[in-house]
Amino acid sequence: MSLKGDVIKRLVGIKCPKCNEDIDFLKNYQSGEMYYMFSVESNGMGDYDGQEFQPDDKGNDYECPHCAETLFTDEDKALKFLKGEISGC
Ligand SMILES: [Zn+2]
Repeated sequence: MSLKGDVIKRLVGIKCPKCNEDIDFLKNYQSGEMYYMFSVESNGMGDYDGQEFQPDDKGNDYECPHCAETLFTDEDKALKFLKGEISGC
């Protein structure tokens, strides 16, 4: 890939292969569980603290923010796409 090609790609931007809109990020949906420390406060109310996400590896979708199509299901490809190294799935 030539340097000139890189510059042009960056000026044009990354386009969604499904709807052809410009993309500078993908929406990532992961399946898993949110973990909180649940305790009781001095006023008697419950308190949720220290949230942490624990993925269960069942779902990991990278979607176009415009048309909501799932473009990738792994981070490596999604990253390459956003860097302009690959054009689609
Ligand atoms: Zn799209």
